[in-house]
Amino acid sequence: MTGPALHLSGVVLPEGVHRDVWVRDGRITFEPVPGAETVSRGGFLLPGLVDAHCHVGIGRGGVHVADLEGLRAQALVERDAGVLALRDCGSPVDTRVLDEHEDLPRIIRAGRHLAAPRRYVPDLAIELEPAELADQVRVQARRGDGWVKLVGDWIDRGVGDLAPEWPADAVAAAIAAAHEEGARVTAHTFGTDALPGLIRAGIDCIEHGTGLTEDLVGEMAARGTAVVPTLVNVQNFPEFAAAGEQRFPAYASTMRRLYASSGAVVRAAYEAGVPVFAGTDAGGGVDHGLIADEVRALHAAGLPAEAAVAAASWRAREWLGLPCIEEGAPADLVVYATDPRADLDSLQRPQRLVLRGRVVG
Ligand SMILES: [Zn+2]
Repeated sequence: MTGPALHLSGVVLPEGVHRDVWVRDGRITFEPVPGAETVSRGGFLLPGLVDAHCHVGIGRGGVHVADLEGLRAQALVERDAGVLALRDCGSPVDTRVLDEHEDLPRIIRAGRHLAAPRRYVPDLAIELEPAELADQVRVQARRGDGWVKLVGDWIDRGVGDLAPEWPADAVAAAIAAAHEEGARVTAHTFGTDALPGLIRAGIDCIEHGTGLTEDLVGEMAARGTAVVPTLVNVQNFPEFAAAGEQRFPAYASTMRRLYASSGAVVRAAYEAGVPVFAGTDAGGGVDHGLIADEVRALHAAGLPAEAAVAAASWRAREWLGLPCIEEGAPADLVVYATDPRADLDSLQRPQRLVLRGRVVG
């Protein structure tokens, strides 16, 4: 790999130390590189942001976006918001072609959503009977980039409320199958009832997690199970409630209750020691490019500002196996004018973006 020789200087996070950083052949070095072009001076250098719950290939209202320009447009909006890596939490579209585009964020895929028949957004998931789940998990584990995505609960129209999608034994077999394949597992859950089975079966992460209780966050903390609260999507819960009100009043009232407690749930998880990461759930109901809003929402819920920033940068990168600003690491970094730990609004305005050792913004 080649690339221009670059030089940046500023306060490097999370250490908080002023450093000179060079880029040579796409990689970071702290050894001066003769002839390097200075592309940034001053400000705060962060390891490239991460949107830990994002969907590339899903457009507004759940439509499939399969054309290259449409996929690129979604990824570019994320990049320009400072997101240089995203965890794609399930896409109906094969986005592999984007891996050849060096100007786009790195994508860590979870394959397709796996749901029970008629128990998710129409046409988004592979719909399966419980007995088929573990085998399909193996297929998705091999297609993805180390993650598999289950739909853990959804409205059960027979019950008229949120309900688990899978019996506990099917979930346990599925999670064991993924782990055998070397993949981690995450699950969409809004309510509470699906959570004990998922957490006790050793799931690696919970998406949304609005139904978490004090007991469950204690168990997650002990196991190291992460949560990605997607608070910018939880803000849509009152709308989901209103849309379901007439036919499913119990569901509507559940969604309103979960919305009302969502901030307290995130705070309780954080305080218990559960790893909390920033994900927007962009694609479908949420626009791309809102990572700064999610960080602000995590802070408003009770994470200290530094922890909220870490949840979208160095902590998330570490969790996903991506290096930070260190000798020899691929040069993926974002520069802000002021310290985002003291001024979260700074995240709204990246001053400089370096991705794979090239200036892209
Ligand atoms: Zn999602």
